[in-house]
Amino acid sequence: MTYADPIDEATAREMQLIEIALANRTHPEPRSPICKNCGEPSLPATSYCSSECREDDERIERAKQHRRVA
Ligand SMILES: [Zn+2]
Repeated sequence: MTYADPIDEATAREMQLIEIALANRTHPEPRSPICKNCGEPSLPATSYCSSECREDDERIERAKQHRRVA
């Protein structure tokens, strides 16, 4: 697509980038009141009871993603 006005083209490109960014934005999971790793009550503003559990669960999630790709 070509535009006579370079400013219009820049605006259109910018809009497109914003749309792509919005489409690709990952929605953060809602916080869980219980630890996603062990089921204990989670800390406020987190989905885990401890940083160890968060790291464990993140490791498991990463492993799952690797399996899905492989
Ligand atoms: Zn836990």
